[in-house]
Amino acid sequence: METAQWADQEHSVWKVLPLHPQPQPLESFTSYMIRLAEANGLQSISELITLVGIPQRRQASLCNSPDYPAPSYYAGLAHITGCPEERLLQTTFHSLVQRFGRSTYPHSLHRFLRESLASSLRYCPACLASCDPPYYSLLWRFLVLPGCTEHGVRLLDQCGHCGSLLLLLTSPPQLAKCPTCQGDLRTGPQTHLSDEVLLPTHGHTQDLKMLLSPLQRPLEEAQAKVIGKQCMALRRRQELSITEVASLTGQNRSVIMDIEQVSSLRASLDDYMRYADALSCSLSEVFDIDRLQELLAPLSEEQTCKQVEAAIQQLKRQGELVTRRNIRNLVGMEATHLKHYPQVEKLLTKGLKGQARRTALTKNQREEELVKLVEQAIEHLRTRGSRVSQQRIADLVGMTRSALMVYPHVKAQLKQIAYSGPPHDLLRKVQDAIEQAQALGTSLTHRGISERIGISIGTLRGDSQVKAVIQHAQNESRQQCENELVNRVENAIAQLLLRGEKPSLPKVSQIVGRNYASLYHRPQIRELFLSLL
Ligand SMILES: [Zn+2]
Ligand SMILES: [Zn+2]
Repeated sequence: METAQWADQEHSVWKVLPLHPQPQPLESFTSYMIRLAEANGLQSISELITLVGIPQRRQASLCNSPDYPAPSYYAGLAHITGCPEERLLQTTFHSLVQRFGRSTYPHSLHRFLRESLASSLRYCPACLASCDPPYYSLLWRFLVLPGCTEHGVRLLDQCGHCGSLLLLLTSPPQLAKCPTCQGDLRTGPQTHLSDEVLLPTHGHTQDLKMLLSPLQRPLEEAQAKVIGKQCMALRRRQELSITEVASLTGQNRSVIMDIEQVSSLRASLDDYMRYADALSCSLSEVFDIDRLQELLAPLSEEQTCKQVEAAIQQLKRQGELVTRRNIRNLVGMEATHLKHYPQVEKLLTKGLKGQARRTALTKNQREEELVKLVEQAIEHLRTRGSRVSQQRIADLVGMTRSALMVYPHVKAQLKQIAYSGPPHDLLRKVQDAIEQAQALGTSLTHRGISERIGISIGTLRGDSQVKAVIQHAQNESRQQCENELVNRVENAIAQLLLRGEKPSLPKVSQIVGRNYASLYHRPQIRELFLSLL
């Protein structure tokens, strides 16, 4: 009815499709496109896209991100259907990603939803049979939901008649019908969900409905940070450490920290869901507006003191360092905020002083231990008749040389043995030269090594063992450089996504300071870009 009014009022009817049904609650964008095309007797989705006004070269966007095409689709579609753009956005993942404070640009969205979505159609035959007109729900895209809670049945991920995989967009456009066998998807087999499965499915369904619902008010700028604080508060209420949550969810500690501190925007929806599951809470609790407001409101000095005190105790209990940074992370407050309160400052200083005493104590103990360990390692090497080198000692102690050098007494020990031991043969000289080059970060070429130890390149190349040792070191350093480059590229992409820009190869190559082609020819980096598409 709204549509009729709309058409009468403002726009001439010829621009609007003759039949323009409106989206159903939670209907997916692809489902709506199929229904529109089918209702108007179009032969393909591509015909509809052309009517929307999307040029041919942009049409792939719908296939690449079926339920979240490029922004250009919505205005055109609003035009020919009389459905407002805001309503059309509700058929996509727009609100969901906005809730997490993420960019709604398709690339960023892909990253956020990467493990969460099914790439082909999943459906509940009972839902299709009970709805008139039948349509596909956006919820069915989420792999976390094994079934439909309304009917208590498992979602099907293939045609119930012929077993074909079903595409999200079919040609010719027809809903609830298998394009392969023309079977009716409403009459597919139904398997009931067990009670153990039904309960969590119900929780996840509620969470997703909440996340997909349109936002009531404009978004907080630091939304993601506030959600992180809320997660942290829920975790602390259960007295779980970051390490404990990481082992419960099977994730890396860095992912948990990213959820709470939002440093790199790497955590995906799947990560958030696993985090909430580990805390036995729902995402609806995490997004509880009143609680979020509470967290946003500044705490009084007394409240802050209590939190700082609790954080110090928690760190001690968990055997973690009491540092300003760790306390801030636990309390979830900026340094400037903590500085406002003299009482809090006093408490912090006291906590840190205690820590310094404890650290000095443990550092001394540790140094004594290490001195003994180094002595034992030297003894061990000597009795075996092996050469005593700093590297071999470090290997035996199980630490790096630089970590050992932090302790003055250990450093003195290592310096003493640096030049002792039996006379060097060629291999040992080469190994020393390699160690030195690695420590200095200089090149590992045959020429460089030859110059350093005063032995000709020919001799180096002639000894197969020496050659292998050099080659191994070269490979290692090459691999290290490669890894660093990939890291820098990842950071550049994250930086661009944060700014809401499309992370194209030229832009990234500019940030990284490497030319376009050299990045493109690296398979690992190429894959990184392909994963963004
Ligand atoms: Zn159902
Ligand atoms: Zn079929």
